[in-house]
This record gives sequence, C-alpha cells and structure tokens, in this order.
Amino acid sequence: MGLQIDIAAIQANWKALAGRAPTARAAAVVKADGYGLGAARIVPALYEAGARDFFVALAGEGRAIRPLLPDDATVNILSGHMEGADLAGLVPVINSPGQFFRDRAMRPGQPFAIQLDSGMNRLGMEAAEWAAIRDEALSAGPAFVMSHLACADEPGHPANAMQCRTFREMTQGAGVPLSLAATGGILLGPDYHFDMVRPGVGLYGGLPFADAKPVLRLSLPVIQTRDLRPGEFVGYGATWTAEAPRRIATVAAGYADGILRMLSSSGVSLYADGAACPIVGRVSMDLVTADVTDLDEVPPELELICPEQPIDALADHAGTIGYEILTSLGHRYQRDYL
Ligand SMILES: *Cc1c(COP(=O)(O)O)cnc(C)c1O
Repeated sequence: MGLQIDIAAIQANWKALAGRAPTARAAAVVKADGYGLGAARIVPALYEAGARDFFVALAGEGRAIRPLLPDDATVNILSGHMEGADLAGLVPVINSPGQFFRDRAMRPGQPFAIQLDSGMNRLGMEAAEWAAIRDEALSAGPAFVMSHLACADEPGHPANAMQCRTFREMTQGAGVPLSLAATGGILLGPDYHFDMVRPGVGLYGGLPFADAKPVLRLSLPVIQTRDLRPGEFVGYGATWTAEAPRRIATVAAGYADGILRMLSSSGVSLYADGAACPIVGRVSMDLVTADVTDLDEVPPELELICPEQPIDALADHAGTIGYEILTSLGHRYQRDYL
C-alpha cells in the first residue's frame, strides 16, 4: 500500500502561498502530523523552502518537531499553555487571561504569543478579557498577536470583513507583529495579510488553494480479481448487485485506513492509469471492491487519490472536506516521499 507524497510540491505550494502575501512572513501549519502526511519529513523540507515559523496544536506535537529544526525556527503551540504542559523550546499561543498568568508565572522571560477571538468563538481572548490584560500582556513582549477567520473559504461571507475589522480594532497601536490569515485568508487579499500568514491545507494541495500543485497519490494493491454473473452481489449487506457479467477487483485498504465508509457505491472510483473503475459495494475495514470490467488488464495497483480524483473530490462524495480526508489517512500505508 503506498501513499506517495511529493515533498517538492509541498515546498512549491508554500512558496506560492508566501508569494500571494509578499508583505507578510509566511509560517507553516503542520499540526496533526503535517495534516496526516508526516511532519518528520515535511517540517525540514519547509524549513529548507524558507519557513521559519511553525504551528502545531499541542505541546506534544511541538516537542516531536522541535529537534528537527535549527534554533532560528520557532514552534508555536495553538492550544497555548495548558496545565502541566512541557513547553521547553516552544512558543505557546496564549488563549485566555488564565493561560497568560500561568505562563508568565511559570515561564518568565520565555517567548509567548497571544490569540484573540475576533468572532469565531473557539479560541482566544474576547474583547473584555483582552482589554483587562492588554497593557500587561504587551509589556511582556509577545512574539505576535493573532486571530483566526471562521469563513475564509467563502470569499463573499460577511464574517470575513467583520472579523478583520474587529482584529484591527483589538490590536490598534499594539506595536507587535499581527497575524490573521490561514490558507483562505491569504487568498482574500492584502487586507488580511498583516505581518504573518499561517497556511496549512494549501501546502498539502487542498482547497481553497485551487492553484495548488498536487501532493498526493494513493495506490492500493489488488489482492484478487473475480468475475460475477448477473444477479451476484458484492460485499457486506449485499448492497450492490451485478446486472450483467462484471469483473470485480478487491484492493487492500478500507475504512481503517481512512477510506470513509460513506464512499461505498457513492460515485467514487479507483483509477487505473487514468481510467475510472467505480467503487461498488460497501467499503469494509480492510478492503474495497471496484468494478474493473472495462479494463483490458487489471494492474497490480489501483489509485484512490490521483490527479483525476484529488482529496477534495473524495471529500465531496463523503460529505466532508479535504482536511478530513488528509487527516484520516491511516498509518498502515507506507509513506514514500518524492
Ligand atoms: C489549522 C489552522 C491554520 C491553518 O489553516 P488552513 O485552513 O489549513 O490553512 C491556521 N491557523 C490556525 C489557528 C489554525 O487552527
């Protein structure tokens, strides 16, 4: 089983997104093991491409990548300073007054950053909390102050301009670097770029960065091929029945590997050199079945993710987003880096 990850494409996507926000520093978001693709390989490659600011969700993720990076890189922890966290060598992005006081008591003089809530109501200090500690927080010298957009993948959504305005108001005169945009925010244009941008999904070839270079190819080995007579069914629940003689291939991956069960008979295909072979019957834990009748010859491997069927096409069929397809990719795949 093979997940082929094009490191040069990830580097090119980072450079392309950095180029869309030329007045800002471009960071790189590598949480959840580099969106499922393998932070250990991706982080040094992004450093080589020029990234110096890395973001992960949890302190444990930060500790895993810190040794891969030279001292001039920072590793920022989006969950901030949680009780008991080991933050040595890391930069917590402080989300509340409680985190701020804990952090300053336990890590005086150590670097930190601040997240404000500009309307998403998920992480960050609200206006009143920020007003109460703003002077003290700013005099402690945060590395930057950031917020996050809720609807940046919908350019026309009124929340974008509203959050941007709120963030500007909350940071007026702060005199420290500011950051608001992730992938979607970069594409919204210069009003959203501030001093640092934080692309994630676009690096890995996902929407909303429609111009991304494809990063992934997922090939699944064919275990067995069989010929069905009309009236024979395939898979659990007998949900698909051959109406004519059909040839079915069984490949070695299933929902335990992130091939969501929703993709059963949903219009998604496995690909043989660009030729679509529809998935038929239920996706099971370790196996997927596809109709390969139209192929002259069944190749040793069929592809689920390829230029003909990128992650966002899969996501559409499963009622989800490319981010979830990426971060669901299982650990049974061999990951090969180009
Ligand atoms: C995940 C995340 C990002 C990256 O978002 P993408 O949409 O993947 O580019 C940036 N900032 C924060 C706070 C995040 O949680």
